[in-house]
Amino acid sequence: MASLVQSIAQMLGKAPTKPAPEEVSPAARDLLAFKKTPAERARRKAAIMAEREHDAMGWKWRGRRWASIIVINLLFVISFQLDVQLVEGALTASRVLGFHFADLNSSLQVMLAHREILVNLLIGVGTVLVLYMLVGGRSFCSWVCPYHLVSEWAEMAHLKLVEKGWVKDHAMHRSLRTVMFVVFALLALATGFTVFETISPVGILSRAMTYGTSLALAWVGVLLLVEVFYSRRFWCRYVCPIGLTYGMAGAVAPVRIVHVAENCFHEGKCRQVCLVPHVLDMTKLGYGTQVLTPVGPDCTRCGMCLDACPTGALRFDIQGLTKRA
Ligand code: SF4
Ligand code: SF4
Repeated sequence: MASLVQSIAQMLGKAPTKPAPEEVSPAARDLLAFKKTPAERARRKAAIMAEREHDAMGWKWRGRRWASIIVINLLFVISFQLDVQLVEGALTASRVLGFHFADLNSSLQVMLAHREILVNLLIGVGTVLVLYMLVGGRSFCSWVCPYHLVSEWAEMAHLKLVEKGWVKDHAMHRSLRTVMFVVFALLALATGFTVFETISPVGILSRAMTYGTSLALAWVGVLLLVEVFYSRRFWCRYVCPIGLTYGMAGAVAPVRIVHVAENCFHEGKCRQVCLVPHVLDMTKLGYGTQVLTPVGPDCTRCGMCLDACPTGALRFDIQGLTKRA
């Protein structure tokens, strides 16, 4: 319970801290003592050096995710163009094979703007809530959201420019996203208008793909330029309240990523590729409290850390179902 509270606090912006000795389980303490022995340090160092010679990032999970985002978003387009009514609407509110889906944050914004609980939205909210409470809320981000895909391309360009020394990342405080969540909620309440929906690249892209191009795409272009030249993954890391809402919804989801401390070399490749590297703090030597630690609710289940990790220290897990080695 304490670790859930801590990981939610971290999702809201609190910086992770090194655990106190009493928070570390006896098994994790024994493993750490073993990892600190000179022989084990030397073995890890040699393995890391050897691994650097064949430095390559896997594409298994990235490829699957890109396919998922493209297929899901294309379903909206194709259903609309061919009028087959399999998938109707856009990501903010849709009907899939007769089931209603309503994005959690969009629904919240609409209800705040109307200052009432809209019963016809509750069914769609309920379906989405149950789905993401099972698979992990932020799976929406990396497996469904169209902005995630284009933002990932912008990130690739950004990292190339950083490597060449032409730009640098301007990191901001993560609590900015929590502040923006409150700001957008208050704006909806005060103006009676869903201000966030107007500027959200998720809705803009989803509607533009299905119903045709719109001027608002220029705004998405501006956001991407900011992400290429100024701040890595700016929108998703520091602004978007959708990610935060889904993170809350899936805080105790059974589908999660777990860190297997025994396999970890602690060289930090996972943290370099992660959209939310604070969730991987346990991968630093001496920061894990368990030998098997679930990654916190801000994790998008993107699988990039699995693609990056050369030792298989991170893996997907279904609580209560995955067989332990
Ligand atoms: S944080 Fe927002 S824009 Fe980014 S991937 Fe998640 S829903 Fe999409
Ligand atoms: S911890 Fe791994 S799966 Fe979760 S967001 Fe980071 S890279 Fe993706």
